[in-house]
Amino acid sequence: MSKGLNILFCTSEVTPYSKTGGLADVSNSLPQELAAAGHAVRIITPKYGPMDERRLRVYEIKRLVNIEVPVADRITTCNIKSSFIVSPKGKVQVFLIENNEYFRENSPYVDEKTGKDYENNDERFIFFNRAIVQVLGLLGWKPDIIHCNDWQTGLIPAYIKTIYAKDPLLQNVKSVFTIHNIAFQGLFPYESFLKSGLPHNIWNEEGVEYYNQFSFLKTAIVYSDAITTVSENYAREIATTHEYGMGFEGLLKTRKKDLFGILNGVDYSVWNPEKDNLIPFRYNAMELPLKRENKKVLCKKFGIEYNSETPLIGIISRLTDQKGFDLIKKIMPDLMKENVNFILLGTGDKNYQKFFEGIKKKFPKKVGLHFGFSEELAHLIEAGSDIFLMPSKYEPCGLNQMYSLKYGTIPVVRKTGGLADTITEYKNGKGNGFTFDKYDASELMKAVKKALKLYKNREEWIKLIRNAMSYDYSWQVSARKYIDLYKTLLKKS
Ligand code: ADP
Repeated sequence: MSKGLNILFCTSEVTPYSKTGGLADVSNSLPQELAAAGHAVRIITPKYGPMDERRLRVYEIKRLVNIEVPVADRITTCNIKSSFIVSPKGKVQVFLIENNEYFRENSPYVDEKTGKDYENNDERFIFFNRAIVQVLGLLGWKPDIIHCNDWQTGLIPAYIKTIYAKDPLLQNVKSVFTIHNIAFQGLFPYESFLKSGLPHNIWNEEGVEYYNQFSFLKTAIVYSDAITTVSENYAREIATTHEYGMGFEGLLKTRKKDLFGILNGVDYSVWNPEKDNLIPFRYNAMELPLKRENKKVLCKKFGIEYNSETPLIGIISRLTDQKGFDLIKKIMPDLMKENVNFILLGTGDKNYQKFFEGIKKKFPKKVGLHFGFSEELAHLIEAGSDIFLMPSKYEPCGLNQMYSLKYGTIPVVRKTGGLADTITEYKNGKGNGFTFDKYDASELMKAVKKALKLYKNREEWIKLIRNAMSYDYSWQVSARKYIDLYKTLLKKS
């Protein structure tokens, strides 16, 4: 067997230490799969807030304290703590960067008191990026690949190629940057660029300047050796249209030969109804009455009247326009006329919260709401719902529709990004869900109605459930693609 690679995986969130969305799941499961394939992977991430270090088994590393990191015109310090993600696949070491000035709060990006981004997000993530390149030499380990994710790690590829270019540890290292969502561009004023310590000669259009602003995302796209995104379809979309590229389509076109779409996978040791410890009744495709038992528990929890003839629609999502909530809002009055119940778990836009609270008031027995983040409820909703709604405006990959398949909860999705790559219309006994094309409320309603209609035909519905449950989106295939990409890059040096 050939020698494994050393891979440093840099991420601003990773379960079980932090999570706001899919990135945290991917940052946990992809490194494990890479490790299982024989590579040495280490994750590096911020240590947010007062973390339960005992429960999460986070330990001090005595020699890695008070490490100096320049930010703006001063020197700040950090400690590096260590933990391990342990699973049947193996063990992956996680380095957590501790700094009580920048990462004092639990919430990674948004100030929970105001609901807005932290005012010093520029400094927080300049610090994080710079700390990573700064501590590398102290880890006693030379990476072959530095894999960065989203704008919060976007400066690392530029540091490697500029002010740290002569660092012996970084000779021949290759950087990969994964775009999990191009809407988040890390845009800050010129003053933030000055705080980064990056050299002045890259403040221009070919470098890091984006319409007079400093963009962490642009920095990453310009300086990384390869760029990936989380589905093939999204890779195509962001490099061709302004609607999806959101201003970066031109730049991405210039890097087209270095841009790859690699679909995210699912960690089936976490998202599998047969082994799920967070649901009351575990089941497989041959034990569907047990899925109904979960539905009963779920309905009870949300004060909804259970009826086997009434399909239950579930949503687990950030409450943002991206996820298609304006369409859901529009169809809600019509939807409530149907024989259907509805459960929503989400956090985000307060206006949407208010809207759904209004609907719940009108239909208390048909609608269940939980505004907050709950891993436990997320699993129960996947297990207990009949239909999963995901009418996204755009969707880089989407994980929930893949989780839903495994739980036999039929996705109704808009055909965009990763949703188009993973969900195919159910027809003549084939396919795994219901789809619609145009971003339009009546199109969404038509798709939902197709699902409601088929639900009445129990035999067909069970066939569809079994189809859905048979899909396998495990990480193995995608991890292989990342490994092939890493190897191709390393051959180039
Ligand atoms: P995104 O990363 O755009 O938010 P994904 O579908 O890729 O969307 O991933 C979302 C992840 O976050 C899933 O694991 C989903 O279960 C989880 N999630 C989203 N909102 C909540 C919530 N309120 N409570 C628990 N889990 C949530």
